[in-house]
Amino acid sequence: MTTGRIIPDAKALADRYAVFGNPVAHSKSPRIHAAFARACGENLRYETRMAPIDGFAAAVRQFILECGGRAKGANVTVPFKEDAFRLADEHTPRARAAGSVNTLIFHANRVEGDNTDGAGLARDITENLAFSLAGKRILLIGAGGAARGIVAPLLALSPAALVIVNRSVDKARALAAAFADHMLAPQGMGFADLAATTPFDLVINATSASLTGAALPLPAGIFAPEKSLAYDLMYGKGETPFLIQARQDGAGQLADGLGMLVEQAAESFFVWRGRRPSADARLALMRQLRAA
Ligand code: NDP
Repeated sequence: MTTGRIIPDAKALADRYAVFGNPVAHSKSPRIHAAFARACGENLRYETRMAPIDGFAAAVRQFILECGGRAKGANVTVPFKEDAFRLADEHTPRARAAGSVNTLIFHANRVEGDNTDGAGLARDITENLAFSLAGKRILLIGAGGAARGIVAPLLALSPAALVIVNRSVDKARALAAAFADHMLAPQGMGFADLAATTPFDLVINATSASLTGAALPLPAGIFAPEKSLAYDLMYGKGETPFLIQARQDGAGQLADGLGMLVEQAAESFFVWRGRRPSADARLALMRQLRAA
């Protein structure tokens, strides 16, 4: 007679996560989190969930219901980051500063909203690119959701100046005003005002202009000679239109947003699992994603 020993199915017992977006099929997040889970020896499942434009909250509730207590968290991408902010019962300070949520944590009776985008960008710039922001002059182009999420983490790195420029000038001024009580108050302006500014050490493109290939109206001499960094939040095959423009305008170093993508994911993973994949694992993943 054999004694029946039930061996638990690791897949069935795995904690469940998903990224919600529309569209979302292109998302690299499942691949990134699967690699992190392998690197950290964590048992989890991570999938994509396409939510209808007007059905984000219902899609999240459905996921939690389906997972029967195993749903632990979610990432949120375009266009649902503000919906996710409204859905959350409580917010971390950085989610409140950003006014949007890219990471949900499912507690027993409440949903917590966090935003890891800014931390991901800051880590990519300061650690992976070894570019110190202390005492530097930063130009942030754009005043949308992504820009809003990165202002506080940039200010925390003690730059000498932060200028926010945007096509709709009012939005640049409003975003700067939201941080006016910070020790270093950012300045908001339009592109036409840039000609009167001194060159910048770091220029970040947080607009979606690269999506259409539209050139940004940046005056010549915007990059400080030699060691300036041009950083485009967008990423893709080859250099983005902004990075091509930046190289021609004399930027010393160029980076796209793939590093930020991996680092914001690592920060979400840390929030959920209390573990951070090693720098080697994160850099190896960046190389793989770039080659894919
Ligand atoms: P939003 O739609 O919230 O904001 C878009 C911004 O781009 C606005 O400031 C808008 O200006 C500006 N803009 C759009 N087209 C032009 C143009 N032709 N010329 C000048 N300005 C323009 O988008 P998000 O803030 O959510 O995203 C911005 C970018 O950041 C996207 O490319 C996104 O993919 C990327 N991103 C990357 C991440 C990563 O991990 N690497 C994470 C998050 C975002 P106006 O206000 O005048 O309309």
